[in-house]
Amino acid sequence: MKKYYSLTMDKDVLIIGAGAAGLICAIEAGRRKRSVVILEHNRDIGRKLSICGGGRCNFTNINIGPEHYISQNPHFLKSALSRYRPENFCGLLKKHAVSYHEKKFGQLFCDNSAKEIIGMFIKECRYAHVSILSGIKINSLKKNHVFTVSTNKGVFTGKSLVIATGGLSMPSVGATDLGYRIARQFGLKITPVKPGLVPLIWDSKNKKIFSALCGVSVKAKASFKKISFTDNLLFTHKGLSGPAILQISSYLTPGDEICLDFIPELNFIEIFKNHSQDKIKLKNILKDILPQRLVEVLARHFPAEKPVSSYTPDELKKIEHILRAWKVISNKTQGYEKAEVTIGGVDTSELSSKTMESKKVPGLYFIGEVLDVSGHLGGYNLHWAWASGFTAGQYA
Ligand SMILES: Cc1cc2nc3c(=O)[nH]c(=O)nc-3n(C[C@H](O)[C@H](O)[C@H](O)COP(=O)(O)OP(=O)(O)OC[C@H]3O[C@@H](n4cnc5c(N)ncnc54)[C@H](O)[C@@H]3O)c2cc1C
Repeated sequence: MKKYYSLTMDKDVLIIGAGAAGLICAIEAGRRKRSVVILEHNRDIGRKLSICGGGRCNFTNINIGPEHYISQNPHFLKSALSRYRPENFCGLLKKHAVSYHEKKFGQLFCDNSAKEIIGMFIKECRYAHVSILSGIKINSLKKNHVFTVSTNKGVFTGKSLVIATGGLSMPSVGATDLGYRIARQFGLKITPVKPGLVPLIWDSKNKKIFSALCGVSVKAKASFKKISFTDNLLFTHKGLSGPAILQISSYLTPGDEICLDFIPELNFIEIFKNHSQDKIKLKNILKDILPQRLVEVLARHFPAEKPVSSYTPDELKKIEHILRAWKVISNKTQGYEKAEVTIGGVDTSELSSKTMESKKVPGLYFIGEVLDVSGHLGGYNLHWAWASGFTAGQYA
């Protein structure tokens, strides 16, 4: 016979969501001798964490600073970011002998697996007497003198309630909108949300031009208005991906035009410098610089093929424009299924930046990606989860 059971648990701190932010908040509150329970609906904790950085988890960045974040309230994050630094997280990893290394642009990755970080949190939760309950379905919650959360496995009460349910990206690993629903229930505002760090789908013109390039990768600069990112760009069968595109995608709304520079680190004139008297064809020079398949496609748009020395200044200008200012309309993205983050979320003007507590509802805290704080690619999102979770853990 199936066994049914029901818990009633009275704690100082209830945390909903055992992801990056919820776990660090739990251990910090537990270290302060608060009794803590984390309620997680997945069977396992930290599922998104386990797939971060291709399974190696780009857990922070040595260049952490507010300029790497998008938020309608950019001053909000400064306090938490200055309080919890990359060194703090690295210290925790060292304590647990989790080895890591630096990749490009200050990104820090585990040497082995993101699962080591999850193992580390399980141990820390044990030391801090934090209870973790998984497979929990939240049915309702309310606040009287304490918070009461009713679930499929019983009723939990707590003096503080921390919402660490993350954003909407990757529902396949457990993302839900619960955090936003709770915010609305308590009268907090939500800024408009959309997928960020997400691959783009071709507009019709570029689909015809580039669809045969699937798998080609090139270092490029992707720009939108005054914002630009120079990094790898990947042609996919659906459109564009790779770090340069993921980064710029966070700033786009449908219909925006981005500009691609395929030779971001070259002076166009320099390309011709050694060939000004030659009969060599431009395509052949470019093949030493760019992937051959990309050159073939771009060259179809150059003025008539001829020796490089015979191009007129106007023709050269046109060629430079093709290589340096290729336009792509961002009509559609691959959505939350493929997005690494959610842009927008719980309006931070409703919270204290010192504690992450709601100004309207004492004892209610929001941390991590559920907030209107989104980082650039490169460890910034996890760092925000650590910093905001750590901060709330000092007060909840
Ligand atoms: C594929 C991928 C790779 C990424 N790689 C990186 C990277 O390398 N570096 C980086 O900085 N960022 C990376 N990110 C972003 C990063 O994972 C998130 O920003 C970060 O995990 C947010 O932490 P969080 O605790 O707020 O949310 P999450 O880690 O998403 O945790 C939220 C938790 O709440 C639980 N939850 C949700 N709804 C409910 C509910 N209804 N009831 C109970 N529990 C619920 C979830 O199951 C989850 O355990 C990546 C994201 C993706 C999708």
